[in-house]
Amino acid sequence: MSKHTPMMEQYLKIKADHKDAFLFFRLGDFYEMFFEDAISAARELEITLTKRDPGQKEPIPMCGIPYHAAENYIKILVDKGYKVAICEQVEDPKTAKGVVKREVVQLITPGTVMESNMLHEGENNYIASLSYFKDGSHVVVYNDLSTGENRIALISHGWDAVIHELYNQPIKEIVISSNLPEDMQEQLRERLNVTLSYQDEVKFNAEYRDLCGNLNDERLMKAFSRLLNYVQHTQKRSLDHLQQAEVIELNNYLSLDMYSKRNLELTETIIKKGKHGSLLWVLDKTVTAMGSRMLKKWLERPLLNKQIIEERLEVVEGFYHGFMERDTLREELKSVYDLERLSGRIAFGNVNGRDLIQLKQSLEKIPQVKSILSQFEQKKIKKIAQELIFPEHLIELLEMSLVEDPPLSIKEGSIIKDGYNEQLDKYRHASRNGKKWIAELEQKEKQETKIKSLKIGYNRVFGYYIEITKANLHLLPEGKYERKQTLTNAERYITPELKEKEQLILEAEEKSIDLEYKLFTEIREQIKEYIPEIQHLADVVSKIDVLQAFATVSEANNYKRPKFVDNNLAIKSGRHPVIEQVMKDGSFVPNDVSLDDNKNILLITGPNMSGKSTYMRQLALTVIMGQIGCFVPCDRADLIIFDQIFTRIGAADDLTSGQSTFMVEMLEANHAIANATDKSLILLDEIGRGTSTYDGMALAQAIVEYIHNNIHAKTLFSTHYHELTALEESLSNLKNIHVRAEEYEGNVVFLHQIKDGAADESYGIHVARLAELPEALIERASTILQQLESEDKPATRTEKIEAGQLSFFVEEEKPAKKEKGTISNEKVINELKNMNLFEMTPMEAMNELYKLQKNARK
Ligand code: ADP
Ligand code: MG
Repeated sequence: MSKHTPMMEQYLKIKADHKDAFLFFRLGDFYEMFFEDAISAARELEITLTKRDPGQKEPIPMCGIPYHAAENYIKILVDKGYKVAICEQVEDPKTAKGVVKREVVQLITPGTVMESNMLHEGENNYIASLSYFKDGSHVVVYNDLSTGENRIALISHGWDAVIHELYNQPIKEIVISSNLPEDMQEQLRERLNVTLSYQDEVKFNAEYRDLCGNLNDERLMKAFSRLLNYVQHTQKRSLDHLQQAEVIELNNYLSLDMYSKRNLELTETIIKKGKHGSLLWVLDKTVTAMGSRMLKKWLERPLLNKQIIEERLEVVEGFYHGFMERDTLREELKSVYDLERLSGRIAFGNVNGRDLIQLKQSLEKIPQVKSILSQFEQKKIKKIAQELIFPEHLIELLEMSLVEDPPLSIKEGSIIKDGYNEQLDKYRHASRNGKKWIAELEQKEKQETKIKSLKIGYNRVFGYYIEITKANLHLLPEGKYERKQTLTNAERYITPELKEKEQLILEAEEKSIDLEYKLFTEIREQIKEYIPEIQHLADVVSKIDVLQAFATVSEANNYKRPKFVDNNLAIKSGRHPVIEQVMKDGSFVPNDVSLDDNKNILLITGPNMSGKSTYMRQLALTVIMGQIGCFVPCDRADLIIFDQIFTRIGAADDLTSGQSTFMVEMLEANHAIANATDKSLILLDEIGRGTSTYDGMALAQAIVEYIHNNIHAKTLFSTHYHELTALEESLSNLKNIHVRAEEYEGNVVFLHQIKDGAADESYGIHVARLAELPEALIERASTILQQLESEDKPATRTEKIEAGQLSFFVEEEKPAKKEKGTISNEKVINELKNMNLFEMTPMEAMNELYKLQKNARK
């Protein structure tokens, strides 16, 4: 059995407990990895794979990284979703008997990183846990170890709701029971792209009681314990900064399903997956990292409670009008450090002197912030000022104890102020006295020997010495000093007195460094007591920051405070908050929206590229902005508080995401139909595109009818099926609107203006011209269209559709056959028949058409 050395035995034993992590095994100045770990790490980290004991029959694959560079390597692995177990030597190798004892001291996982280089400033880093219960409910717990935040949500309506809840949150890792069915695990991994971790044993420790606060549901406690068990298991150190769990009552927030979170691009864009181009990008005028994180949280959970929304709006209005004060406020807030994450690092024990000085400077800013806030007229703002309670004693402590510019290291002294600790002062006095004595000695010896260049120096090996250049050696009386070292042009000497002083100085310095470290850790411990106060302060500061950001962006972009009404939503000159910024030149065309109880479904027609999708999304974004308490992009808005928003964005827009399947479209529509209420907003954009024309139109019509008759949700429904506009006659609550386009010298001009009534033309051919299809083809299509229109018999439904949408594809068939009937034309026709237009991008369609036409002309 013992084919391995004792150290390898030790390695294998520890590795067996950490199968799902890279084991960083400390060997001297390196972390080594062996076997499979070494092979994968060499690949992932692009480092050289070597072998241990290459002489042996089966050498062990191995690779290593220097311990001082470990942080970067750990970051690479953790960013890729891996876990890293740090295994240290836990006894001094010099005194150890046999193999040095080693232990895993920390498990670094994507959800539990604390190092600031692995965290994004403006974004939370959540580890979540998920538990499910026999009654069918699920509980999700969110924890951000870097800020100490704990939040818990009970989800009682099924698994799908869990995925919708978790989607698009900054979650890096989810802790589950290994009994969670495999297909659910698969969904978590695939749809949320997170690392899964397992914690089967769930123990409620007495020490959790405080954290649980007033959780009174056993399910919540169990789920929370799963998370805490895991965090304790991985971190193995103090977590004093964890905050009491806050229950998220999902019913108190506007619910956005996962499709809407994605489609509306609230915090990231669909294609580039970045903040740029999202609503967050426009709104984020916060000046602190804490504020930026809070804004993101607000965007993910717009409110339902009118009173709270109005309270936020009051403050925003106050900030809006106090331009000068707001500017000063922003300046002051800019120098407030990330108090939330700082608390986490204090609890974790990885702050240095500089962090604490920044803490002090941030706290010192608070009185100024308070006084600026009290200058605003708004009463609500004055009230917030009173919430800014800050620990004055803590400022005193920091002021008394720490020097203003401490070094990065906490183990080399020069952190603690003179006068803070008597013993430290004594050591420092001794060392300073000793140094003074040495300086005096130098003077004295110079005079005695008359050697002007005589000097006293210091190095680590020989300590203090007297140095005399060779040129002056003849002036030195024989035997005056004791020779210690010979250099090329100088000799170095010592004297017993000098050594005696040196001893005193070094001892004092060593002792003072040790004492400083001890004092520093004591101060850090003392600060722990203040963590709850700092966290509370952080929370208030974040809120102020977000609200000033709303005021700032509202003023810059000319937003207006919305009014909330019970029914009859009406927006005057509304704009799309993001597109208007992207266009910059002010050319965005504003549009009105009116949705009252009698006309709660708007059926939107208009040519491609005219602005249908934009109009729909701009309404949803306006609603969300209003419900988070921000002003909205329009001249005037009467808004309704919606309970949920559902979106289905047309297949054509989806092509790039590779998800243009009809199934997804139907899933999204179904999700809306199954969950919407008469207080919801539904946006269905060109539904039915992903299937054949009849199919699609039939489904689209049935869906509109169903919503109209059964759900009564406020609905915007855009369609390219002109036939559906006839529904206005049969569905009393449906109203047709269209986006205006005008023909000008044979070209279509998009005005992006919404008007009542149905669009009367589909402009397909004009759009084809815009796409620069060959002119001959366009002319041919126009001729066919004229023929069709002049034919007396009323067109059947299908013909009409084809004339509008697909005329040049379909109609080409007949004349081609009649005129030539060559083999090549038949081939063209067959190819045409087999083409699946709905799977093609416009560019692909163009290319195909071009090829077909070339063949047809042969
Ligand atoms: P549709 O859904 O009708 O095909 P989109 O809503 O996707 O059209 O709009 C197409 C483009 O037209 C947008 O990307 C935008 O550049 C422009 N656009 C849309 N609405 C407006 C508007 N109100 N003012 C100015 N430009 C607009
Ligand atoms: Mg569209």
